[in-house]
Amino acid sequence: MLAELGCSADGLTDREVDARRRRYGANRLPQAKRQHPVVRFFRQFHNILLYVMMAAAVVTAVLAHWVDTVVLAAAVVVNVIIAFLQEGRAEAAMDAIRRMLSPHATVIRNGRVADIDAADLVPGDIVRIASGDRVPADVRLLSADGLLIDESALTGESVPVEKSTEAVAADAPIGDRAGMAYSGTLVVHGQATGVVVGTGSDTELGRINRMLAGISVTSTPMLRQIDRFGRWLALVILLFAAGTFALGVLVRGHDVALMFMMVVALIASAIPEGLPAILTVTLAIGVQKMSRRHAIVRRLPAVEALGSVTVICSDKTGTLTSNEMTVQRIVCGGHEFDVGGVGYTPVGDLTVDGKVIESVHYPVLQSTIRAAVLCNDSTLQQEDDGAWSITGDPTEAALLVLGEKIGLSYAAAVAAAPRLDSVPFESEIRMMGTLHRDTDGRSLVVIKGAPERVIALCEHQLDRHGARPIDRDYWHDVAAGIAAQGLRVLAMAQRHGDPRTPGQLVLEDLTDGGFTMLGLVGIIDPLRPEAVAAVRDCHRAGIKVKMITGDHADTAREIGAQLGVGVGKPAVTGQEIAAMDETQLRDIACDRDVFARASPEHKLRLVRALQAEGEVVAMTGDGVNDAPALKRSDIGVAMGRRGTEAAKEAADIVLADDNFATIAAAVSEGRGVYDNIRKFILFMLPTNGGEALVVIAAILFQLTLPMTPAQLLWINLVTSATLGVALAFEPTEPDVMERRPRPPGESLLSGYFVWRVALVSVLMAAGALLMFLWELRNGTSVQTARTMAVNAIVVAEMFYLLNNRFLLKPVLNWSGLFGNRVAFATVVACVLLTALFTYAPVMNATFDTTPLGLLDWVKAAGVGAVVFGAVELEKAVVRRYRAARGTTRGTN
Ligand code: ADP
Ligand code: MG
Repeated sequence: MLAELGCSADGLTDREVDARRRRYGANRLPQAKRQHPVVRFFRQFHNILLYVMMAAAVVTAVLAHWVDTVVLAAAVVVNVIIAFLQEGRAEAAMDAIRRMLSPHATVIRNGRVADIDAADLVPGDIVRIASGDRVPADVRLLSADGLLIDESALTGESVPVEKSTEAVAADAPIGDRAGMAYSGTLVVHGQATGVVVGTGSDTELGRINRMLAGISVTSTPMLRQIDRFGRWLALVILLFAAGTFALGVLVRGHDVALMFMMVVALIASAIPEGLPAILTVTLAIGVQKMSRRHAIVRRLPAVEALGSVTVICSDKTGTLTSNEMTVQRIVCGGHEFDVGGVGYTPVGDLTVDGKVIESVHYPVLQSTIRAAVLCNDSTLQQEDDGAWSITGDPTEAALLVLGEKIGLSYAAAVAAAPRLDSVPFESEIRMMGTLHRDTDGRSLVVIKGAPERVIALCEHQLDRHGARPIDRDYWHDVAAGIAAQGLRVLAMAQRHGDPRTPGQLVLEDLTDGGFTMLGLVGIIDPLRPEAVAAVRDCHRAGIKVKMITGDHADTAREIGAQLGVGVGKPAVTGQEIAAMDETQLRDIACDRDVFARASPEHKLRLVRALQAEGEVVAMTGDGVNDAPALKRSDIGVAMGRRGTEAAKEAADIVLADDNFATIAAAVSEGRGVYDNIRKFILFMLPTNGGEALVVIAAILFQLTLPMTPAQLLWINLVTSATLGVALAFEPTEPDVMERRPRPPGESLLSGYFVWRVALVSVLMAAGALLMFLWELRNGTSVQTARTMAVNAIVVAEMFYLLNNRFLLKPVLNWSGLFGNRVAFATVVACVLLTALFTYAPVMNATFDTTPLGLLDWVKAAGVGAVVFGAVELEKAVVRRYRAARGTTRGTN
């Protein structure tokens, strides 16, 4: 069959790949149709606040107040354009993320194993698939080991189907074609090799053209909260405006046209037009910052939820540790060997009691290492630059490196004892087995796995004189001793004789037992250097760190101790978890931090138990069986490199570097983003509040309007929005990781917020109104007095922006005044705009403003200074009060 497709077991050569690539194109499905930009543009008008503004524009047009009409209409259009551009940017960002998450495929090309982008596959490529993978193309299977595939994406049938290499009738329905694996389906068990027969739209998936579940751009709880707030606000404003209008016209008998203008002014003042746009920017900047720190956000709500995480449950292997495994100890035949060398470079001596030895003098050692090399699915290769690299499981690669250190390569080992079949490693069974034809022609079954597992299956043990009955206690002690040093322990055993079906190996052949124990190896997996600091950061931030691993309890405890996780407390094992009911588990889940010999189902139970205790849980995972726990957790974190497609699809966040420290970084960014959104809201609302109060006062006391609708829109849309952008860029405060996590579901507009908004609103309104009245009284023209009132509010905003750089900390210091360059730039921009507004003849004509004198500016600055001083004073008082009460939670 390979010949038919023009390829061999060594795979295609680069030349062939290029040619086929040109002929068949990339292995990608055509993009789903996007909404036409014009449609997208007009969709942005569908927003209740904009409806209100458009209605106001119509009213002003009817009254022939053309300037107001034009400004209102312009405001609507500007809003729509900003929303349109924002949406485009958000989509572009999501596209970039989709590309970063593009699936990978393991191929054999030029006789070597390589990991490539699945889009680069061509027909004729030989691919390997294993549990957790999405099948990257339509593949005819060449070999399959316990392969189970979930084909629900194609057939809708949710029970995984068993696959084999057998040919079936050409007209068999998809679900019955056991010899094929189809693009987009999910491998849930086993592994296989196959040859690609269809790519891109030439696959079954392409034919029925059903898109894979993509990345969803959903709203976040906070955005929904704000949206609700916006609608509620619009309603209140409308009712209030209608009431005011009715009162003015019907009861007081005011002029209808005048009352209309008052009401339009009220509407214009109270609606925070810039709010939604800036929020989207803030979230988008957060997503960008996180991706720069290697955390790829798949679902927007994660940005926010990160800020409230209280527990991080992390895998040990590869996340807290570097997953660069090296065998350090071997115990077999009554000897203890130390192995020298680091990493995957196969150089290092074997020593006994410090003396270098030759392996030829130790036959049991040779058998043990041969078993370790034979029972192996990884590859070790030297790159052109001399560096050694691996594919597959690092635990197994470490064994290949060990083999090379005594001069035994994988190629040589399988040449002498060809491999016939295997039972691949799965976390649930904690071992794997392979079947070989040994040099003497007999069948040989080799197993390696967790010591308890393997020791239980052995009847004999090997020493230099041959096989003897096994001393299980001895081996358990040795295993515990190695584990207590923080090493991962693997046991090797073998058995001669045919399996149940000659030439085929199934799990039962292993569990039948009757093996001969060969030896144990201890593998070091160094801690990631950043992990220790990251764990400490999390603890300081009030976040508990729990370590979950499939490793031996003693190994786990030692590694935990090195990290500062679960020090002084026993580890909980998967067996113990299995024996507990939900209530017991809830206590244990909260109290203990190290979980060993745990399988994915235990992870799911742990997440549930922790959530039942009110915790907000982030859980890491990589395997296909981790998907339920990732989905269930509040923040599912998948590994970008080691992780399977299944895990990535279930996750909210993908770690591009598989590193625990990245989770801590993402939490800190998440807290920063949330802070900035609160700072922005706290900045934006009082301006609207102040303006509305001024207008209301004017209506109540029948005063001349201190600001026209056009001028109010100028403040909201131009100056507030310009200044507010600064807060989206506000750097994350250095102490975010010293606070307690934010209580989940905490309302954005807390009591303290409402108070602050009210305080500043009143100050701004009072300043502007009193100045306006004072000026009128002293004979200043209405135009000039209005210009002063508007500019007083704008200047107050500039000051208040500074206040808001820190929620509670004082800003009268170096970092407060100059720490955010964007804030500086926006203030400068705002000053220029204000100058334009005041002095440019066009603006004078449009907005009915007049140039001001120096003294007028001093007065405006006075209003700003009062606001600034009052807020800093208030912050100081609240700080005192909180310090006295010892509250450190929430606001910094
Ligand atoms: P972890 O959560 O630390 O990645 P695993 O579930 O991968 O743990 O492994 C659990 C145990 O299974 C290990 O302690 C080891 O004894 C054994 N094991 C791990 N990898 C392999 C393998 N490739 N072959 C055989 N046994 C393995
Ligand atoms: Mg593992």
